[in-house]
Amino acid sequence: MLLRERTKEIKIGNVTIGASHPIAIQSMTNTKTDDVEKTVDQILRLEEAGCEIIRCTVPDEAAAKAIEQIKSKIHIPLVADIHFNYRMAIEAMENGADKIRINPGNIGSKDRVFAVVDKAKHYNIPIRVGVNSGSLEKDLIAKYGGHVTAEGLVDSALDKVHLIEEMGYDNLVISIKSSNVPMCAKAHELLADQTPYPLHVGITEAGTVTSGTIKSAVGLGMILGAGIGNTIRVSLTGDPVEEIKVAKMILRDLGLREGGVEVISCPTCGRTSIDLISLANQVETMLAGCKKNLKVAVMGCVVNGPGEAKEADIGIAGGVNEGLLIKKGEIIRKVPESELLSALKEEIDKM
Ligand code: SF4
Repeated sequence: MLLRERTKEIKIGNVTIGASHPIAIQSMTNTKTDDVEKTVDQILRLEEAGCEIIRCTVPDEAAAKAIEQIKSKIHIPLVADIHFNYRMAIEAMENGADKIRINPGNIGSKDRVFAVVDKAKHYNIPIRVGVNSGSLEKDLIAKYGGHVTAEGLVDSALDKVHLIEEMGYDNLVISIKSSNVPMCAKAHELLADQTPYPLHVGITEAGTVTSGTIKSAVGLGMILGAGIGNTIRVSLTGDPVEEIKVAKMILRDLGLREGGVEVISCPTCGRTSIDLISLANQVETMLAGCKKNLKVAVMGCVVNGPGEAKEADIGIAGGVNEGLLIKKGEIIRKVPESELLSALKEEIDKM
């Protein structure tokens, strides 16, 4: 059994994670949470893209109070992200947060952590215990040679989890985040062996859309590929909708989720006689919201294209001013270059 399947089931609003439940895709809003209209707009766009759990920062009372209104207009569970102020955690829960994310290390005294745990217990709301490499305790840095290490991160997370367990609560999720991919992957392997709780995984501060996508794909590939992780977030400096697209692609490419269109396209070469780069981009944009489970090939020539597109459900292969429409490896018709995109769309609509 995979490590992810050995974890406890944890219910976050109407989504259950852990055990054999699918890996849930999360994102985080980048609007001011107390701007209800903008926050709701962004969450609805994220829902449409495939986001299953949303996190909003709750830095003050206005944000905590906004949760109730936001929740009445969205359809996915809302996680309140809390730093430093334990009262915000309590208010977020009173206003309907489905889960809270805290780092007990920056919440303050044990009494304050207890007050938060007590409220979570009252509403039976899960707590995500989040540890970041940037805020690792000095004693754990010293314990492991003066550096932030995977071992230090794991100790930090488990110390906090044990603290909450001692307070009589085990409705927990854990996250350990670092922008150092090998360290992050090692920390998850060490942690997954030592805890029954589901893990929320991601590479933090991964970067802009291109560099962050690569970093996240490598890091999440290592962690998820080792059978670890029950929810994921791809962190990108960009529109959060991009995070969802990337998360879905990572899960699909690892064979962990189905659904959505996978576009495969050739790199082009001296045989290419149509504007394949533009065509491939147009195909990807055209099919971005398509929920059908399809592999679509966009190939540059009729010499190798049909053969290379055999594994796809549908595809096009470019010729000179025209192209072939190919279904399951069979050529179905020739189409002028200017009509290739619409012909492909027409066929996909029929599938
Ligand atoms: S499919 Fe054709 S155009 Fe594309 S890389 Fe292969 S040979 Fe070149």
